[in-house]
Amino acid sequence: MAEVRSQKDNGNGVANPLVLDAAVIGAGVAGLYQLHQLREEGLSVRAFDAAGGVGGTWYWNCYPGAKFDSASYIYQYLFSEELYKGWSWSQKFPEQPEIESWMNYVADTLDLRPDIQLNTTIKSAHYDEDRGRWTLTTDAGQVIDAQFVVSCSGMLSAPMTNLFEGQDSFKGDIFHTARWPREAVNLKGKRVGCIGNGATGIQVIQTIAPEVGELKVFIRTPQYVNAMNNPQYGPAEVEEYKSKFEYYKERLPHTFAGFEFDFDNGTWADSTPEQRHEVLERIWENGSLELWTASFSELFFDEEINEQISEFVRNKMRERLKDKDLCDLLIPTDYGFGTHRVPLESGYLEAYHLPHVGIVSVKDNPIARITPEGIQLTDGSTYEFDVIILATGFDAGSGALTRMDIRGRDDRSLTEQWQQDITTTMGLQVHGYPNLFLTGAPLSPSAALCNMTTCLQQQTEWITSCIKHLRNKDLHVVEATREAEEQWVKHHDDLANATLVTKTDSWYMGSNIEGKPRRMLSYIGGVGTYRQKCSEVESQGYPGFEMH
Ligand code: NAP
Repeated sequence: MAEVRSQKDNGNGVANPLVLDAAVIGAGVAGLYQLHQLREEGLSVRAFDAAGGVGGTWYWNCYPGAKFDSASYIYQYLFSEELYKGWSWSQKFPEQPEIESWMNYVADTLDLRPDIQLNTTIKSAHYDEDRGRWTLTTDAGQVIDAQFVVSCSGMLSAPMTNLFEGQDSFKGDIFHTARWPREAVNLKGKRVGCIGNGATGIQVIQTIAPEVGELKVFIRTPQYVNAMNNPQYGPAEVEEYKSKFEYYKERLPHTFAGFEFDFDNGTWADSTPEQRHEVLERIWENGSLELWTASFSELFFDEEINEQISEFVRNKMRERLKDKDLCDLLIPTDYGFGTHRVPLESGYLEAYHLPHVGIVSVKDNPIARITPEGIQLTDGSTYEFDVIILATGFDAGSGALTRMDIRGRDDRSLTEQWQQDITTTMGLQVHGYPNLFLTGAPLSPSAALCNMTTCLQQQTEWITSCIKHLRNKDLHVVEATREAEEQWVKHHDDLANATLVTKTDSWYMGSNIEGKPRRMLSYIGGVGTYRQKCSEVESQGYPGFEMH
């Protein structure tokens, strides 16, 4: 392991910086593995995280009901059989405490803690072209001098916490789901208002509905939902999935979305109505994200086919909801299934059958403000609460980066640049920001559309290989060229614009944030295809990446 040094002066007039080969921002799924790899390569490296523990998303999102919706046996690191087999999951889609424990198991097993600095927010990262190095500063005023910076800061880590006028005046408790208190929150018997019914809101609502005194859910856009099938795992099931380690390792990196399933059902066009029905019913029973990411690929491109699959899901929802008014409020009709993130749920629809659970539609009568007593709508109607839950989502993909002051060559600001247009080269670098690597960033599958562990392992491995290549050749700086970036953006946009995803408003398009440039955040060419393109760049000696 290389030595981490502090020195009096880094040549930049800054006293006592911590001198590193690489600074990793974030200690979640990507950050832990990136730290491990770079350390194995002999770099001096430290991972910094604002949280008080490791786990990233799985540290912060400790709201009631938070859980996986990728199966536990594939939301895994597959680089080490020992690591994979050393942990046994209790069910297919386990809850947040178990997932956070697993992340801690990873940190301990790989002995990462000595090189992780928690409770540390990176406030700025500025590139010095003369020295070919980055200067980072933390919220505590610490200065870090690093040759490479790898952002593992997460694609859903910049929560939309301050959305409403008057939030500070609320006399009760107000929590954003991604900043949920670490200590237990007692909601028993309380009057609770929940804003938002995305994947997070749905998990919260179905979990707290039975215990609260009253629950009002403020819904602007209803969701297609897919019932989760979540079997418990005993020793036999654990043994069974562990025995497939080699299969998952080979399979996951090459499918459309990094799951074990893929579009293997033939095309909708070539199937008979009976065959289509059989496929949809069979996949529906599996109760996973398979219906969305591996039923018929035409659902992403063809409005008519999408409408038929949407109607299939609507019928499933109608069967459970029964009540016409609930159907009108909860079943989407003005966008297609799968054109934004599909949430899995367990009893979410049934929660609305409880007498103390109600819906406030804010589609045509938006929330105007939060008052000391509760929530006020534009028409002046008010709702009083003890607790307000903001399940209002994130400034996804770009937010974690634009909330830092990142400046590349010639003092250019990433925040200002991405206010105009969000571009990257393969989601791995941005032209103008040498030696800065990204994971989970816009224009790669890991910005949204994949089983995150599959994609983040691939990206961190690519970054490690690139740094290794540079060092082997005694080069010091790598930067994506303008041409390579333009080509990637065009390729990305060509694929994205052929899909129906670009026609639906959601965080996938950045449209949940006022003023955010509209571009599909995730690369939709498929995880396997993206991987192949990245591997080609690597095997061809990094065309499109200037090195010196
Ligand atoms: P989200 O999908 O962006 O949902 C935010 C919700 O807040 C939406 O219902 C949105 O309504 C609503 N909202 C925002 N501002 C509002 C306003 N001013 N008035 C009324 N409603 C407002 O965020 P999320 O649910 O946190 O999920 C984000 C992503 O996290 C998911 O898509 C998923 O990728 C990931 N996630 C994963 C899991 C898992 O199982 N592993 C669990 C949770 C989340 P509109 O739709 O009308 O904007």
